[in-house]
Amino acid sequence: MAAKGDMLYAWSTDAEIQKNGECGGAVTALLKYALEKKIVDGVLAVRKGIDIYDAQPVFITDPKEIAQASGSRHCGTLLLSKLIKKYLEGADTMKIAVTAKGCDVMGLYELAKRKQINLDNVVIIGMNCGGTVSPVTARKMIADKFGVDPDKVHKEEIDKGQFIIEYEGGHKGISIDELEEQGYGRRSNCRRCKMKIPRQADIACGNWGVIGDKAGKATFVEVCSEKGANLLNGAVKAGILATEAANPKGLEIRGKVEGAMMKLADKWRDKDFKSLGEGKDRLKKIMTETSRCIKCYSCILACPICYCVDCTTKNPAYVTPGQLPPHFMFHLIRFAHVADSCINCGQCQELCPAEIPNALFMHAQQVELEKMFGHVPGMDMSLPLLAMVEEKDERARLGNTGSDMIYENVFNPVK
Ligand code: FAD
Ligand code: SF4
Ligand code: SF4
Ligand code: SF4
Ligand code: SF4
Repeated sequence: MAAKGDMLYAWSTDAEIQKNGECGGAVTALLKYALEKKIVDGVLAVRKGIDIYDAQPVFITDPKEIAQASGSRHCGTLLLSKLIKKYLEGADTMKIAVTAKGCDVMGLYELAKRKQINLDNVVIIGMNCGGTVSPVTARKMIADKFGVDPDKVHKEEIDKGQFIIEYEGGHKGISIDELEEQGYGRRSNCRRCKMKIPRQADIACGNWGVIGDKAGKATFVEVCSEKGANLLNGAVKAGILATEAANPKGLEIRGKVEGAMMKLADKWRDKDFKSLGEGKDRLKKIMTETSRCIKCYSCILACPICYCVDCTTKNPAYVTPGQLPPHFMFHLIRFAHVADSCINCGQCQELCPAEIPNALFMHAQQVELEKMFGHVPGMDMSLPLLAMVEEKDERARLGNTGSDMIYENVFNPVK
């Protein structure tokens, strides 16, 4: 019987699921079992859309349909957590299993803290994640660097530090480091991401550390909670899933790869944050870049921290309606409300039509706040810094000073 803390190799006992799965189909088997046994009412996962670059979120309630979501979509730059809040009533009225990369899991916790998701009703199947590639970059990279027509590619994968494609006529791999040095490869937020094995999920699944005859045919599962152990044990008992103890050498390799990914993320953080400059230079850069903003609200709609029904950026006292670009206050409000909890999911940058590196700006501030106050977002249910502000005291302070223009100095242009 598996228990919290166990490290296992797992694979589906169904030949079809095994074949279609990324690494033996353990995740698909677990999801099928959860639906069949009515442990959950539905599964939120990701399936292939019109081509391999198109990752579509899908909500499945029929266990017979779960196989359509098999496989890893590395060009899936989605954040699933906010979809649960927006379209599935925050899992308040139904039980949901979700396949969740590190940023998805972090988003789930941040939304749960804000009472937008009921985690008691969610089974989190964590997916280890080395990073995702934007579909636009992937197509360009395959054409320019691989010399292959992107429409001829039928499979992509990231393995042993390489981006690998299979296409009509062969397969090719190029080192991610090399691609990234040349401006291709993973999204910039993914390069800085340190949530590679999401241990705040119920189980964390991945291919790192699977060696020997099981390499490529099984998934490495770290059991992270009692809920995860129960799901796994039930599936094994039902004969849907097979497991064995992880190879100790594999465990060691997995640890080393994770460590190397952390170092690489630190390197990218250093490089990206340095590119922003410091102090007034940084402010000036942020003000210049955000002056392209067309106030489409995509960053707010996509951000897992932004959940408010009445958003302050729509308050005419702060941001004049009908004015483009909006006053810098628009961005200051986001920084003030989100920076302590930003999970670096990249959505606000991914979806910005003005190509403003919003995630970089916010992540840089989050890391500074983390250094100062020690709060790490997305890890658990611990409350963010803003939750510690005593609203009554703050209102009294504003009342006593007779003015709420605490931002007055910011309106002076930066020299
Ligand atoms: P399957 O049975 O094939 O099921 C995979 C499940 O993942 C499906 O339910 C599918 O809907 C869901 N899924 C697919 N794409 C996404 C997505 N973009 N977001 C959320 N859910 C998705 N493992 C590592 O050890 N190291 C890595 O660096 C690594 N990077 C990964 C990057 C991505 C983007 C993804 C999705 C997975 C990554 N994995 C990584 C996990 C690994 O590729 C396998 O998914 C895992 O071993 C499970 O294999 P399986 O055969 O059991 O899964
Ligand atoms: Fe994966 Fe992290 Fe990028 Fe999310 S932010 S897709 S967890 S690398
Ligand atoms: Fe994600 Fe951007 Fe929100 Fe940070 S600010 S959590 S990167 S959407
Ligand atoms: Fe809420 Fe602030 Fe985000 Fe608006 S910007 S949705 S007020 S957190
Ligand atoms: Fe402005 Fe970009 Fe946000 Fe749209 S997504 S409001 S353009 S910063």
